This record gives sequence, structure tokens and C-alpha cells, in this order.
Amino acid sequence: MKKSNFRRALAYIHSYKKSAVLTAVFTAILRAITPYIYIFATAKIINLLMKNADLKSVLFVAGFAVIAQMLLSVLKYWLENLHLENQDGLNAYEKTQITKALLDIDYNRFEGTFLEQKVLQHRDELSREGGILNKYINSIENFLESALSLSVALISLVPFFKSFIIAGETGVIDSMWFGIILIVLTLVFVLLLLALKGKIAEGNVLLRNKYAKHNLIFSYYNDFVCNYKTGKEIRIFNQAPIILEQINSEMFKKGVPLQQKIADRNSWTLALDDLISAAILFAFSLLAGIKCAGGFYAVGDAVAYIACFTQVTKALSTLTGMYGNWKILSPRTELYNSILEMAKTENKQTVRCPKLLEQIQFENVNFSYEGADHLALRNFSLTIHAGEKIAVVGENGSGKTTFVKLLCGLHAPNSGQILLNDTDISSFDKTEYQNLFSVVFQDSYLFSLPLGENIAVNEKFDDNRVKTCLEQVGFTKKYGLNTVLYRDCDKCGVNISGGEAQKLTLARALYRNKPVIVLDEPTSALDPYAEFELYRQFSKLTSGKTAIYISHRLSSCRFCDKIAVFHHGELVQFGTHDELMQNESGKYYALWTAQAKYYSL
Ligand code: ADP
Repeated sequence: MKKSNFRRALAYIHSYKKSAVLTAVFTAILRAITPYIYIFATAKIINLLMKNADLKSVLFVAGFAVIAQMLLSVLKYWLENLHLENQDGLNAYEKTQITKALLDIDYNRFEGTFLEQKVLQHRDELSREGGILNKYINSIENFLESALSLSVALISLVPFFKSFIIAGETGVIDSMWFGIILIVLTLVFVLLLLALKGKIAEGNVLLRNKYAKHNLIFSYYNDFVCNYKTGKEIRIFNQAPIILEQINSEMFKKGVPLQQKIADRNSWTLALDDLISAAILFAFSLLAGIKCAGGFYAVGDAVAYIACFTQVTKALSTLTGMYGNWKILSPRTELYNSILEMAKTENKQTVRCPKLLEQIQFENVNFSYEGADHLALRNFSLTIHAGEKIAVVGENGSGKTTFVKLLCGLHAPNSGQILLNDTDISSFDKTEYQNLFSVVFQDSYLFSLPLGENIAVNEKFDDNRVKTCLEQVGFTKKYGLNTVLYRDCDKCGVNISGGEAQKLTLARALYRNKPVIVLDEPTSALDPYAEFELYRQFSKLTSGKTAIYISHRLSSCRFCDKIAVFHHGELVQFGTHDELMQNESGKYYALWTAQAKYYSL
């Protein structure tokens, strides 16, 4: 059975801090009972004064009330403080759960499932409206406080309600029917208010969703200009006007009016709520006053009843408001759960992956990205034997990177299979399988962390190994291994060039030292010397490993054992350079001769 949103939220809150709900419960109890100390003490004092009781008794009640009030206040503020501390922690916890889920979610879910948009929407709502876990805690607190306060008020009002049955002397107002009609009318108003608040909240959910879309684009442009890397193009292409226009259009023309509409609707509801509460309060107070004047109870009791009515209207207003808030909270919780569930539903395989690679075989593999109208890999078959160096060539969009993603188990074929030593890779534990690979992707990145940690992808690293890898890729900058790269997290960090970053990602792949090394355009940012040096060292760098080398520089493919030629997602040719060059109508020959016009190959 699917757990309700509420139970799930409780489970998350519980896993953050076991005492968080308990703190909210006690805070609610104290908040609910505190006003009644004043109410009952004031009533008692008035009654004593009306009866000309001695000063000692009056002071005793007043003293008792003040001390009780002080003790409750101290306790209440202590609990509220705990509650506030929990709020910050809970927001961070809510975000961290998403981060953990994102680290755990299968890679193929990132592409085509609008996951990124969902995460951004959650983040945006959390910063604008507060986290949902806190909203649940507040709901529990408000509900308990209101329900308890309402119960105490209604119990205290029993003698007052009893006085309805006996008609007074003034006739209409203190007749039995006036009181009963008043109660029925109150219930009708409460139900109407409930329906109205629900309806307003439903409309607000739609308006909020529209606003969220505009705000996402607004934030996108605001964040975009924060990054120094975008500053170059913004200036050279004079992108400021287009950015400002987007900001203006999304937020000030579309977003702000929506927020104003929501605010208008909310203030109308609040005004109506206040008006109805005031009318009910006034009618009951009038009745309480008349019954008191009729001698049904003492003046102090009448004061207490009126104060209890105030608590009743306050509680009813909160409870009906909660219904509306619940309607807004519900889709937010669904969104949150849908992200976290993506991580939980992943099928974790338990078959152990062999550490020794003999061969990897693509057998009639077809693959298309979610939402795409064409196959990125079509009827694709290829066998890679352990230790082979395979070059992969082909035009842009021919499926080379997709092949790498499937090879590394980041995506699964739609049909056909990929076998490692004759076993379908889908049966292996994904982490174990991926542990066979070391990859330099085209869009590899480095963290704003010390150089050594970046290369080892670990806080602890072997200095000598890191230095050897840096030498092997020709990284000659005299940075210490503790030098922080980039300034995102450390203002003393160093900025490095694209080519230097590419060398470092290569060094990182070498340090990882796995049986298969995949290099996707590893020289695209390198200068000719560095590129030449890499080609020269390629055999040494990949010695004892299986290597997949994607490159547009066809001359660089000659040091590979075989060349795989991709075209429109298909493997159209596979063989050595000499073999492929013999087919003058083949794709490889065409690519080679096209490049040969500009390079002396
Ligand atoms: P190559 O590496 O040879 O340039 P890719 O493997 O990146 O080519 O792309 C092959 C095809 O798959 C292209 O048509 C490309 O548009 C499409 N493609 C690549 N990545 C995605 C994606 N994340 N979602 C949808 N289509 C994609």
C-alpha cells in the first residue's frame, strides 16, 4: 500500500531527529493552555471582587496566575527555541535527502525525465516558502494547538450553553432559539469558510505553479550572470539587453502580477474570515452579557466565556486555514517524494561482476534517448577484447558518446545486449561494473578542491602516484598538491586553462587505474605539443589496459589496433587503418581524405 504523504513526511522528520515531533507536540500543548491561565484567573478575580472577597484571596489567585504564567512562558520559549533550531536543520536535511537521491539515481533517469526541473522547482519553493518537512511540523503544531484550545474552550463553555435551555426575561435574544440558531449559523459559516479556503487554495496552487515556471527562468538568468565563465560572451555579444529583457518579462511582467493575484485572494479570504469571526464573537458576547445580566452566572464567568469565544474563533480560523494549506502542501510533497522515489526504486543487482576482463560484446544493440524520435545507436554489434586499443571515429552526432555511455552502463539498450565475458552486464551490480572503467568525458569537470584530492577523488592520496600521473600527462605547473583549483569554494584558489584542466582530468583517469580506459576527445583543448606528446605516450599510458579512444583527428587513430567507424548510429566499418583505407567508397576513406586536405597526414 502506498504510504500517505503525511506518514512519509513523519518518517523523514523522524529520521532527521526523533524528538522533533515531540517538541512540536509539547509546544502546541503549552501554547494552547497558556491563554486559559489568564482567562480563568481574570474571571476568578472579577468574581471575588464582585463578591467583596478579602484582598488576600484576590492576591493569592493573581499570584498563582502570574507564577503559573511565568513557568509556562519559560517552558514555552525553551521549547520554541528548540523548535526553531529544528527548523533550520530540517530544511538542510530536506535538501540533503534530494542530493543523496540524485547521487543514487540511475544515470539514464537524468536524461528525459525532467528530473533537473523538478529538483530546481523543489529548491526554489523551499527558498521562497520554506521546506515541506517544516510545514508538516507546523501543521501538527497548529492542529494540536487549535484542537486542544477548542476543546478547552468548548468544555469551559458548557455552563453557558446550558443557560440556553432556560429562556431569560428579555425575550428574543435570550430565548432558547437564539442560542441554537447562533450555534447552527456558526457551524454553517465554518463550513462555508472551509469550502472557500479550499477553493481559494486550489486556485492558488495553479497560480503558484505558473509563478514557479516564471521564477525558474528568472533565477536561471540571475544565476547565469553570477558565473565569471559566462562574462566573456555576455560582453562580446552584448547579451545584457536580452538577459535583462528575459528577467523583466519573466518576473516583472508575468511573475509579480501572479504573486499579487495570490496575495489579493489571500487577503480577501482573511478579511472575510475576520468579518465572520467578529460577527460570531459579537453575537455570542451579546448573548453572554444578556444572560449574565439575567443572573444566570457571575460577571467574571461572562468575561471568561467571551474570552473562550475569542479562542474558539481563533482556533476555527486556524483549522479552516490549515485545510487550504494542506491543498498547497500536497503537490509539493508529491514532487518531493517523486524525486526521492526515483532513487529507491532502482534495481540493485547482486551478481558479482568479474574483476578480470576478457571481452565486452555489443550484440545487436538499439538505443534511443527518452523522448527522442530516432535511434542514437542502431543494430550495433562490436566485440572489444581485453588489451585492445580501439579508436572510434565518425561525424558529430553519429553515436560515439552514446556508445561510451552504454559501454559504461550509464544507459541500458532498448533491445539487444551488452555482454561482459559472456554475461549480460545488466545482471551485475552497477557500481562493481562501473568500477572497471576510467573515463575522460568531453565535458569532464574538476572540483574546487586541492589538486591532489581532485586527481585521487579522495581526501587521502598517494603523493608520488599523483605526481607521476601529472608528469605523464605533461602538467608542468609548479602547483603543490594542496593548491585549491578554482575560486568557487576558496578565494585563494587558482584558475586553470581549459587545456590544463583537460590534462588534469586525464591524470585523474590514469590515477584511477582501471582495466578499461575511455578517452572521449581527450586532446580537444590541448596545444599541438601536448597533443603530440599524448600520442607518443599513448601506448605507455594505456599499457596493459583496454583503451577506447574517440577522436576527430584521424591521424591519432593509427596508433590504435582497430578503428570503429560510426555513421548515423551504426557501426559502418571496423578494422585497421590500412584495411579501411583500401575501401575507397567507405566512410573512413572519405573522412580521412577530407581531413588530409588540411593536414599533411
Ligand atoms: P557523438 O558523440 O558522435 O557526437 P552522440 O552520441 O552524442 O554523438 O549523439 C548521438 C545522437 O543522440 C545525436 O543525434 C544526439 O542528438 C542524440 N543525443 C545525444 N544525447 C542525447 C540526450 N541526452 N537526449 C536526447 N538525444 C541525445
